[in-house]
Amino acid sequence: MERLISLSVSEMRNGLLQKDFSAVELTQAHLQRIRKTNEEFNSFISICEDAALAQAAAAETVLAAEQGASPALTGIPVAIKDLLLTKGIETTCASKILTGFIPPYDCTAVAKLKEAGAVIIGKTNLDEFAMGSSNEYSAYGPVRNPWNKSCVPGGSSGGSAVAVCLGQSPLSLGTDTGGSIRQPASLTGVCGMKPTYGRVSRYGAVAYASSLDQIGGFARSIEDLALLIRTISGKDPNDSTSMEVDVPDYLAEVRTASKTQLQGLRIGVPKEYFIPGMQEEVEKSCLASLDVFRHLGAEIVEISLPHTEYALAAYYIITPAEASSNLARYDGVRYGFRSQDHDSLAEMFERTRAQGFGAEVKRRIMIGSYVLSAGYYDAYYLKAQQVRTLIINDFKQAFANHCDVILTPVSPTTAFKIGEKADSPLTMYLADIFTVPINLAGLPGLSLPCGLDSAGLPVGIQLVGPPFAEPRLFIAAAAFAREVAFDSRKMALS
Ligand code: GLN
Repeated sequence: MERLISLSVSEMRNGLLQKDFSAVELTQAHLQRIRKTNEEFNSFISICEDAALAQAAAAETVLAAEQGASPALTGIPVAIKDLLLTKGIETTCASKILTGFIPPYDCTAVAKLKEAGAVIIGKTNLDEFAMGSSNEYSAYGPVRNPWNKSCVPGGSSGGSAVAVCLGQSPLSLGTDTGGSIRQPASLTGVCGMKPTYGRVSRYGAVAYASSLDQIGGFARSIEDLALLIRTISGKDPNDSTSMEVDVPDYLAEVRTASKTQLQGLRIGVPKEYFIPGMQEEVEKSCLASLDVFRHLGAEIVEISLPHTEYALAAYYIITPAEASSNLARYDGVRYGFRSQDHDSLAEMFERTRAQGFGAEVKRRIMIGSYVLSAGYYDAYYLKAQQVRTLIINDFKQAFANHCDVILTPVSPTTAFKIGEKADSPLTMYLADIFTVPINLAGLPGLSLPCGLDSAGLPVGIQLVGPPFAEPRLFIAAAAFAREVAFDSRKMALS
């Protein structure tokens, strides 16, 4: 039998139901994998060994009693980005400022996974407060890319991407404010989705930029991803921005969809997403993927999203503005780290923040405070919001008049070297050039591997749909994946 850690979730489910292995054995296999690989790759900040084994034992009871009627994820391990609150488990956001913080409640997405029977195996590493594109800005050290250990895995949800890639967990949750799920998925050769803004409750996700943040996840196959995203979706009274929209059974839709369902699907390819400066092999791979879609019956149409070039600038004004306000709450008074070195209350606030936050987080707080301050608000923040409206309209026009799905590269390059961009914020920000417009417009985006570059590093494509068109993206992606047969299990098997 193949190693347990490389199975798909449906194979795990079948194995559990047929008693080929038990839920405790399945969890143990993953814990063992984490123990063996975490020192090298640093993808986990906390490993929930005891709690996970207790949950797995409880899952065995449920499986024995309910068998096929048990919830779909009973006994299946899931890793959680350490930005999502987990009751009783330290949540650090990879920041010194939250040291020792143990949340009193679960994030809704985590609670939904638990209800579905999942085993929470650990908390994954990230860029501090989800600000970054390489997972180098973590107080817990960088995460390494399994395809090449001297490369970054992408960020900010780098630990969650690596956990799935390495077979430390078949599923993981991440968050995506400007690309933090799609870009690390692409750089590590796994599948990742950022659902429509409002599809998944943000309750219990530590806020970075609230008008863009969205929880989503990673898996090694589109089927597994469809199951994961469906499990966490839905209206939540605790998040007023979550939407009362039907949640279709994505997995069933993917399974019943045949190749012919791509017949007539219009795939728009925006010319603004193929730009000078991007890695040639990335461009080539993406264009080659169009032939696959054509072969599957889709119609490829060139489209234009004319305001694309302003997206990155608008994003790096809006997100620091929201972050500067969201991060005001970390003052050392109620939870987490407090500087001991002070003579007055004001000094305590100052020193706690000066010592508790890392350089990139401080940079964003300063930029955010600047663009929101009197005299600059209209020139920067308001302008950026107006640009955001133009970008939203670009997408609306494209979907109304030209196409059903948009296809772009995920990242302008494959995984880059650790240290290569860490000292240059602007170069790092450019890594997000193809992902941030989708967050500004609140659309669903799916990243899936399409091939390798000449250095053997994965390349990804991004599929984007209109609001709540997740099923369309899963169906198109699954058809593509069947055809291309990229093996996302490679690292879990090695
Ligand atoms: N890299 C982007 C940023 O630093 C995106 C981060 C994210 O999606 N959380 O803002």
